[in-house]
Formats: sequence, structure tokens, C-alpha cells
Amino acid sequence: MSNTNDSFRSAELAMLGEIWSSPTLWPTMRVLCDDCNGRFVASDDERRAAAFICDTLASYGLSNAHTEAFDVHGWTRGETSLIANGHPLTCIGLPGTPPCDLEAPIVHMGNGEPADFTRVGEAARGKIALVRGQGSHRLEKYARAYLAGCIGFIFSNTEMGCLPPTGSIEFGGKPAPLPGIGIAYETFLRIERMLEGGDVTARLRVKSELFPATGLNVIADIPGTQPELGTLMACAHYDGHDIAQGAIDNASGTAAVMEAARALMKVRDQLKLSVRFALWSGEEVGMIGSGAYAKAHRDELVQIKLVFNCDIVGNPGTFWIGLNGYDTDRVAEFMRTLAGKEHDVQVKGDVVIPYSDHFSFYMKGVPALMAATGSPKYPNLGPHTYGDTLDKVDLRALRSSAAFTARVLMHLAHDPAPLPARLATVEEVQESLRKAGYEELMKAQGRWDF
Ligand SMILES: [Zn+2]
Repeated sequence: MSNTNDSFRSAELAMLGEIWSSPTLWPTMRVLCDDCNGRFVASDDERRAAAFICDTLASYGLSNAHTEAFDVHGWTRGETSLIANGHPLTCIGLPGTPPCDLEAPIVHMGNGEPADFTRVGEAARGKIALVRGQGSHRLEKYARAYLAGCIGFIFSNTEMGCLPPTGSIEFGGKPAPLPGIGIAYETFLRIERMLEGGDVTARLRVKSELFPATGLNVIADIPGTQPELGTLMACAHYDGHDIAQGAIDNASGTAAVMEAARALMKVRDQLKLSVRFALWSGEEVGMIGSGAYAKAHRDELVQIKLVFNCDIVGNPGTFWIGLNGYDTDRVAEFMRTLAGKEHDVQVKGDVVIPYSDHFSFYMKGVPALMAATGSPKYPNLGPHTYGDTLDKVDLRALRSSAAFTARVLMHLAHDPAPLPARLATVEEVQESLRKAGYEELMKAQGRWDF
């Protein structure tokens, strides 16, 4: 392997030593979490975070550090209440929910899978869907409730001790059609017991404000020594939710990517390909920032050889990589070999993960992966709850995530041979989405955007 020549190997070891011994990573997390709170898109917190990320990348010596604005629906939370058969229950609004004041029966939709909706059929129409958050993605359950004619959506967490979950119900930049709220699992079980005794009527009141706004992506580059060979993109969304610090989801990915940028600057003479760093906003409301970038930079996408997206990389445990795309066997094998026994890494090739920002690029045929780490330190206080705070982040895991990300980028920017030979065609992307069973849902979500 040409990558193991002496000067490359010693540069790589110096870079790893830098990541494992430098004190920069935790202060970055502290600024993102303590000074910028949840960094909800289009908020003052988001603006403060964008300025911090941009200035920090420039101070590391990256070129062309700047922000790019995109249009998004701003949303602010108001009071939300749920009263079921006269009992007030704790709940929170899901971002993007329209305001409402309605009264209707609750219909138990199980996990909200296709079979559940088939089972209930027409009886769901005009009712408020109660859905357990297990199995498919929240947005899929929501789209099914909408298609079934439900008029409201109650989404629960799945484990004891869970807090009410938040999570956007907007997709494809289109306003959410049904009001939606989140409830804790205990609350879900209580409603379930009430339903065993007969019909449950709910009064659902949601106050919220939707308004036109802009979000900010942050972009910066390390130019390669042979930029004509192309560009690797390392990215993470820095925006989070308004109810917590978004420490795991996704200050962790942001800090890991920023740390990889800092470390790669030290070995830049080894990088033939350019590396573009992108920190997205608007991911939590439907991948709006990365989607806007992929649209605005459509003509440059052919230059991007791989998108490496870190989303939730501060949990201890396996560093999990899911590769979307065509002709990914060599790069998957390369990553497995690179991990060897030193890194606890699992690589899955040929998967489709239609959530998080790599997907905005995969939709355009660009080879793209999502990286995430194993099981949370406190499983009942995870992402999208009040519990996503800095104390949950595992610093050692975060360093390990930054180190493996930087290693992959360094090797592939030095020797791009394992990378896919070309972008996938529109037909190939559509075919893979069909095979994975996403076509109907993405159409319902207004995301079948070719
Ligand atoms: Zn995320």
C-alpha cells in the first residue's frame, strides 16, 4: 500500500498524537453547548455558533472560511397541552407543528408501521393518532398518519424514564400538515391503559409560530496539492433543538469534524485532494441546509468524491459507518483494513439512510456515508430530549471518532484509489430507494425530488 511509505506514516502518527493529546476538543464542546445552547436553526444561538465555528476554522488556517445563508421556516415553541378524558398530561410540541385547538378521539396506531395502518384502516380517519416511537423513523409514522386521514399526531418515546421527545415533523421544506406532539413513554402507557377501558377523547392545544427565516451553513477548505483530483467533504450538522444543548446530537459531530480539520492542517502537504469542511444548520428541521447547498452547488458535485457525515459520535462504543452509493466495495474494505484491530469500527456498504445530511448528496448520486457511535452512556436521556446535555458526552469516544475520521480523510486525500469511480445516476439512486422501500414515503413527504 503506497500509503504506508515512511513520510506518510510518520505524518499520520504525528496527527494522531495531536488529536489524542491536544486540549482543543472539550473547549469546543463547551462553547457549542454552554454558550450556544441548542443552536436551533435561525435563532440567535445558531448565529453565535456559526460565527464561532467559522472563526475557529479560520484560526486553524483553513482557507475560504465563510457562511452561506439558506431559506428555512423559522419556528418557535408556545404552550402545548393535552387533556385526555379530563386528565391533563405532560407533552411538548414537535418543531414545525402548526398551532391547533381541537378535540377528537385517540386511535392507537401501535408502532405506526404500514401493517398497523392497514389493521385500523378507515377507522383512523378524523382521529388523533397515538404512535409508539419504535421501529421506523418518526417522519415515516407521521406521513402514514397523514395519509390515513388522521387530524393529529402523538409520538412517544420508547423506554421507561424517557422524557418527552422532540423532533421535527416538517419535511422537504414543506409546512407540516398535522399538529404533532411528543410524550414520555410513561404517558403513552397511561393513555394505553385508558384506551383499554373504552374511548378516549383528547383536547389538544398547540401554540407555535411559523415564520420565514434564514439559516447559516459554515464552509471552509484545505486545498489539496493536486486539487484537480477532486474534493472530499467532511461534514456534520451543528444545529440542534431548542429544549437542550444538543450535545450528543450534534455538537459531538461538529466538534469531531472541526478537530479533524485542525489535525489535517498539520499534514496538509500529504493531501493531494482538497478537503471541504461543511457544518450544516437546519438538519433537525428536514436537512434544509445541506439540501440547499447541494442545490446551489449542483455543478460542483461531480468534484466531490465522498461525503463523510458525522452525526452523533460522542457515545462510547463502536464507530458505525453506513455507506450509501454505488461501487462502494473498495472504500468499505479500505476502511475495515484501516480500522484493523486498533479501532472498533463497523462498516456497512450499500445501505440507504434517508435521514441526516449525507442523504442530500446521495440524492444527487454522490457517494456519501453517515458515521455514528454506539450505545449512549445514559440510554434514557438521549438525543431529542431535555437530557441531551454535555455531561452525557464521552470525551474518549469523541477523540476516537475525530481520530478515525481524520485518518480516513488523510488516507483517501493522499491516495483516492479506493473511492467509487463515478457518481451514481439518477436512475440508480431511484432504484436503490425503491429497493429500500422508500419511494412511496418520500413522495408523501414531498422529498422525491429528482
Ligand atoms: Zn443529528
